[in-house]
Amino acid sequence: MESIKMVDLKGQYNKIKTEIDNAIASVIEDTSFIKGEQVTLFEKELAIYTGSKHVITCGNGTDALQIAMMALEFKPGDEVITADFTFIATAEVIALMGLTPVLVDVDPETFLITPESIEKAITPRTKAIVPVHLFGQCADMEAIMQIAHKHNLYVIEDLAQANGSNFLFKNSESKKAGTIGHIGCTSFFPSKNLGCFGDGGALMTNDDELAKKIRSITNHGMTVRYYHDNIGINSRLDTIQAAVLRVKLKYLDEYNEARNIVASYYDNAFVNISWLKIPKRTDWSDHIFHQYTLVVEENKRDMLQKYLQEKNIPCMIYYPVPIHRQKAYSQYGFKDDNFPVTEMLSGKVLSLPMHTEMTLEQLKYITDCVNNIKF
Ligand SMILES: *Cc1c(COP(=O)(O)O)cnc(C)c1O
Repeated sequence: MESIKMVDLKGQYNKIKTEIDNAIASVIEDTSFIKGEQVTLFEKELAIYTGSKHVITCGNGTDALQIAMMALEFKPGDEVITADFTFIATAEVIALMGLTPVLVDVDPETFLITPESIEKAITPRTKAIVPVHLFGQCADMEAIMQIAHKHNLYVIEDLAQANGSNFLFKNSESKKAGTIGHIGCTSFFPSKNLGCFGDGGALMTNDDELAKKIRSITNHGMTVRYYHDNIGINSRLDTIQAAVLRVKLKYLDEYNEARNIVASYYDNAFVNISWLKIPKRTDWSDHIFHQYTLVVEENKRDMLQKYLQEKNIPCMIYYPVPIHRQKAYSQYGFKDDNFPVTEMLSGKVLSLPMHTEMTLEQLKYITDCVNNIKF
């Protein structure tokens, strides 16, 4: 059996090697490394795929979040609400911009930010909500948009882990992650569901004015060359990365489906184990399993992790320390008591290998190991 990897980028590349190699070679032939034609084409294709009116690429997902907050002209002291249980980038950018990160707790079964916790955190200084579509599943966007409307707030979706996921409205209409809020921000980091061969990111919006401003900010605040209307940054998607992404976008649905097959296999194998909980699927979103994350009974998580490592099965804790307890964020005076669910999850979650190239043999081995563990 091939050794099991948390993510198998090499196996995925081998299957589309000729297409990718040709795409990269043609950019090198062209030498249009910055703002080449492939970038424009990828933006158009991602716009068609997502149904977003505008897609503007940038250097990475963290920059996308920063650019969104620059474009919306938030001012120091403005409060931005986001989840405590997420990758640091979401809160980091809020802090970096001199805004006040307001962290809220998440749902114990879906790991997603909840409308109830958002509503409780709103103050007269609140400017925006940044829901994170964690592990591949959309937050409850219908309820979140209603709250945003009621309180006149912006919504910036962090869909770094949910490229291609669909949100289902109560009237059966469905929309892609990233196209429901005012701006969607995503990442093409190699291990994401849609990943390039380096750093990459994008913003989506249906607002023409906002799109213009975002595009200008990504390129030093220029619209006309050497005339700077906004204070911007330098954050662009390399043409080579765009060429890779154009190839991989064609396979995204297939990749997300492959992840679902893995998840269903795990679900079936684990559903009757009393000391762990399989990830819950919401009824309002696809799950595209950026991560397959178990909640393991207190004290057994670390034993399971050690046991899997002994069996050469990689696994990871996403995320071991909640943001409210990170040293760099101590200045905000967050209190553990306000985040009981995130506190609980950081002690109990464990993510299993999840990628597009897993074999039945590997899945059988992993699930047999988990089922045969004796505590
Ligand atoms: C990966 C990720 C980001 C940041 O993306 P980069 O491209 O690595 O900057 C932001 N938010 C979430 C939830 C992520 O998973």
